[in-house]
Amino acid sequence: MSSTSTSPAIVVLGSLNMDLLMRVPRAPQAGETLLGRSLQHLPGGKGGNQAVSCARQGAAVTLIARVGRDADGDALCAALSADGIRLDAVQRDDTEATGVALVMVEDSAQNRIVVIPGANLTVTLDEAVFAQALQGAGAFVTQLESPLSVVLRAVALAQAAGCPVVLNPSPMQPLPDALWPQIDTLVVNEVEAAEYTGLPVADGIGAVAAARALMQRGVRRVVVTLGAQGAVSVDAQAAVWHPSLKVQAVDTTAAGDTFTGALAVALARGAALPEAARRGIRAAALCVTRPGAQPSIPHASEVDAMPEPPPWSAL
Ligand code: AMP
Repeated sequence: MSSTSTSPAIVVLGSLNMDLLMRVPRAPQAGETLLGRSLQHLPGGKGGNQAVSCARQGAAVTLIARVGRDADGDALCAALSADGIRLDAVQRDDTEATGVALVMVEDSAQNRIVVIPGANLTVTLDEAVFAQALQGAGAFVTQLESPLSVVLRAVALAQAAGCPVVLNPSPMQPLPDALWPQIDTLVVNEVEAAEYTGLPVADGIGAVAAARALMQRGVRRVVVTLGAQGAVSVDAQAAVWHPSLKVQAVDTTAAGDTFTGALAVALARGAALPEAARRGIRAAALCVTRPGAQPSIPHASEVDAMPEPPPWSAL
C-alpha cells in the first residue's frame, strides 16, 4: 500500500451527472412561468466530484462509473480526462442516457435539485478490473448514488484486499449492519449523521455523540461535516471540532465532495485524521466561494495557499 507516497493511487466508484445549472431570481410557483438569468452545462455527480477532488490534490485516480453513449457522456469523460483521471473502467450504456441533474439556484443562493440517474443505475462491477485497480491503492472512495448492491460488493472486496474504505453514505438510505465494520473512514454531513443514528446533531457536541454511535457499529473513524460550522473528526485517539475558514460562500454545491476527496488523499498520504480533516476544511472553503460542482473544486496549490483553519477544540 502506498500510504506514504506523495502521489497515492485512489479508486473511486460513483455517479457521473451533467448538471444543468439554471440561475433564477426565485423558484417558480406551481403553474407559474419565470424568466431565468442563465443556463450552464457543468460536470457533476458525487462520484465524479470526489474523483476530481482526489485528482486535483495530486492522487492517481481510477474511476468506476457509467454514462450513456451520448454527448453528455462524451463531455463528462473529456472533462475527467483533462484532470488526468483514468477512465478505462468508465462504462457506456447503449440504452440509458447519461445522468442529468437539474439545479435551480435562486438569487438567495438557495438550491433546488432534481436528479435523473439514467446510466448511473446500470453500473456494474468488473471484479477482475476492480481487483487490479485496488493493487497498491491507498484508498477506495464511494457514495450511495450507485446501486447499493454494487457499492456493498465493492466495499467488501476493497476491505478484503486491505484497501482502506472511505464511505460518504449519501444520499441517505437504510444500510445493512454488516457494512459498518468494513468502513475505515465514514464522512457524513449533519443531516446524515442524525438520520443514521437517530440522535440530534446541531453542533460539534451532537456530532461527536453521533460519530461515537457509528463507531460502536464498527466504523473505525468518523468525520461529520457541519457546513459553515466546520467539521468534527472522531477516532480512537481524539474527538475534535475543526472550525471552518471564514469565506464569502456563493454556492455550496460539491463542498462535501471536495472535503471527502481532500481528506481521502491526505489519509492515503499517511496523515492522522485531524490533519486530514483540516485539509478538507481548507479545500471545501475554497469550493464554496465558486459556482458549480467540478469547476469549483480547488487544486492542491490553491489549498496550500489557504490559511490554516482556527485551532481545533478537543471535545
Ligand atoms: P457540508 O456538506 O455543508 O457540511 O459542507 C462540507 C464542508 O464544506 C464543511 O465541513 C466546511 O468545511 C465547508 N463549508 C460548507 N459551507 C461553508 C461555508 N459557508 N463557509 C466555509 N466553509 C464551508
